[in-house]
Amino acid sequence: MLDVKSIRTGYGGVEVLRGIDLSVGQGEIVAVLGANGVGKTTLNKALSGLLALTSGSITFDGKPLGGSPIAAVEAGLIHVPEGRKIFPNMSIQENLELGSYRRGRASRARNMERVYETFPKLRQRMTQMAGTLSGGEQQMLAIGRGMMAEPKLLILDEPSLGLSPLLVEEMFELIKRLNADGLPIMLVEQNVVQSLEIAHRAYIIENGLVTMSGSAADIAADPDLKRAYLGL
Ligand code: ATP
Repeated sequence: MLDVKSIRTGYGGVEVLRGIDLSVGQGEIVAVLGANGVGKTTLNKALSGLLALTSGSITFDGKPLGGSPIAAVEAGLIHVPEGRKIFPNMSIQENLELGSYRRGRASRARNMERVYETFPKLRQRMTQMAGTLSGGEQQMLAIGRGMMAEPKLLILDEPSLGLSPLLVEEMFELIKRLNADGLPIMLVEQNVVQSLEIAHRAYIIENGLVTMSGSAADIAADPDLKRAYLGL
């Protein structure tokens, strides 16, 4: 589905990604894990076409990805950014409508219904200003907006950021549910333990390189990972 081969990129001569290889297959949840500043956001920017590659390639759904944000969205690679970049002064309904800016009225209504079925709380509050939602609800709105674009692959950038433990639990349950409905998901996270619980496979990124990859269960059991991330 998504094939990333040896990509390198950075900012003004400073290389941040130093040759990353990774893939996401049909039906998978793939976790991309790493500490602050290892290049997760940079990887997301490269995948969404916001940052040009110095070398390497990105193939999505069998075709090279065009290198522009519009090409990525049109191909169905939908990115839900970290920090819940919703529009605070617009209603929930309006925020969702913005997620489907290129789709027709009928498909918009159908997608909206699907989002409201997934997030009944958003339906109850569809006219409420998005900025007045709680952190967890804003994160759900951001995911709902991503779903409006009919994703073939959803990239979630730190969906657990800033949520209370209970809400993190809820968020990860939701991600599992979306995936069980057939949506492949790339989960970019710092929350190693819970991400590995729901992912099929995972990549650990350190210093712009993949330093570990494999099944989530194998990685969770790896003594090096436990030492590095869990302090065990
Ligand atoms: P976090 O989890 O803290 O968001 P991250 O893994 O997403 O971290 P990136 O934001 O990709 O990390 O940053 C990787 C490196 O690139 C950092 O050293 C950062 O300072 C640098 N960097 C990020 N954005 C820019 C930019 N626009 N210009 C220059 N350097 C940048």
